[in-house]
Amino acid sequence: MTNTIPEALSYDDVLLKPKYSPIRSRKDVSTKTKLTKNIELSIPIISSNMDTVTEHRMAIAMARLGGVGIIHRFLSTRQQAIEVQKVKRAESLIIDNPYTVGVTNTLEEIKELRNKHNVSSFLVVDKSNKLLGIVTRRDTLFENGKNPTVRQIMTPVEKLVTAPRDISIEKAEELLHKNRVEKLPLVNSNNELVGLITTSDIEKRNKFPLAVKDKKGRLVVGAAIGVKDGVLERAEALVAAGVDFLVIDIAHGHSIAELDTIKIIKKNFPEIDLIGGNVATAEGTLELIKAGVDSVKVGVGPGSICVTRIIAGSGVPQLTAVLECAAIAKKHNIPIIADAGIKTSGDIAKAIAAGAHTVMLGNLLSGTEETPGKVLHKDGKQYKIYRGMASFGAASGRAEKEKGEWQEDSTDGVVPEGVESLMAYKGPVMNIIQQLVGGFRSGMTYSGAKTIDEFHKNAEFVRITAGGLRESKDHDVIKI
Ligand code: IMP
Repeated sequence: MTNTIPEALSYDDVLLKPKYSPIRSRKDVSTKTKLTKNIELSIPIISSNMDTVTEHRMAIAMARLGGVGIIHRFLSTRQQAIEVQKVKRAESLIIDNPYTVGVTNTLEEIKELRNKHNVSSFLVVDKSNKLLGIVTRRDTLFENGKNPTVRQIMTPVEKLVTAPRDISIEKAEELLHKNRVEKLPLVNSNNELVGLITTSDIEKRNKFPLAVKDKKGRLVVGAAIGVKDGVLERAEALVAAGVDFLVIDIAHGHSIAELDTIKIIKKNFPEIDLIGGNVATAEGTLELIKAGVDSVKVGVGPGSICVTRIIAGSGVPQLTAVLECAAIAKKHNIPIIADAGIKTSGDIAKAIAAGAHTVMLGNLLSGTEETPGKVLHKDGKQYKIYRGMASFGAASGRAEKEKGEWQEDSTDGVVPEGVESLMAYKGPVMNIIQQLVGGFRSGMTYSGAKTIDEFHKNAEFVRITAGGLRESKDHDVIKI
């Protein structure tokens, strides 16, 4: 124990000093950034791997908007892999393995498959995968009450427009438009099905220019894993489902359990980027980097639903944690994620200015349409649940599942380090992201930074007092 106790600061203790700005409009700044050593994002925002924040709907929305989502790990391995698959299947330049049916399938079966896979059309193939036709919504529209076979209702291959696998997306768009069709099956010289291009994928591509995609044009998605038994099987299933990166999600990342897991995962999946965390010190950051992570997640105790600092008395105020961890990570060219405690777009600017490359948001994205869970009605208002993953509800739910069924002692030993809350329903996440990114761009402009690299170099903080904080908020007015 040393007697000199250093002071540590949080976002509210500082402001960014305004600097000369050569930037005429905040539209002229680039928010491009690094998530990991090998993955880039268009905006520096990640949705938290929490069961009330990120499953496939949030991950799809986030990647389309230029950020990324991380599927939480409190699902069975199979279910988590399915969530990843749903994101990877949401759009692609070319669908490699389109859903197919045979000519003897029936309309009733098609309806079941539509519900199961959430697609409206099926390509029809024979046993050797030769294309025979297509069944679209139009082919089945007026067939209610009957149960014809696919052979009776399909549009046959002679009437279809097809193309070779190596067609360019521009040429495909032209063909689809010229022939007024929505699906372009891709076939080889034997007329075997080798892919599919759809107008809806092309539309999405044009609608979301910032979308973060892999080499095949599929949305990028991450998934969280723990450190206990079965972690390798889980990682294997997630990689097979197409996950782009993994995140070791534990509250105290500077630990033997995490270091062991990093080694196992890196040994088995050297090609998959791995994020380690959470840590709050330079020493912790350095150890994770030495063990082989491609990005470090920083934050012990700052979360809006977190009571770790009260229950365990441990943590580091987040601005100091980010400053320290980023300084050491920079020497190793590893990006930092500032996780938790972000209340405003101004906090995003402060976190990135302090050296982080991205921020992870729970609270600010909770309550949106794309989060898992239903909208609740209470006293005429609408809410969604937002809870810490170490809250009583989340932790006891897991304890119960681990025991297989409810048992008297299922919640014994649960010491919650998080709380459960109601969050006002906020509508689509896109509106929230727009506001946050707009505010963040302003923050970069006030520091005269056109890029995040420049922001890291230019930014200068001033410390403020309680008076400064009071002055910073709106005051002495009746707000309308
Ligand atoms: P927020 O954006 O301030 O609400 O913080 C969200 C972050 O809190 C997550 O990304 C996690 O790092 C962290 N977190 C999630 N659940 C818990 C918990 O139960 N206790 C402590 N921290 C948590």
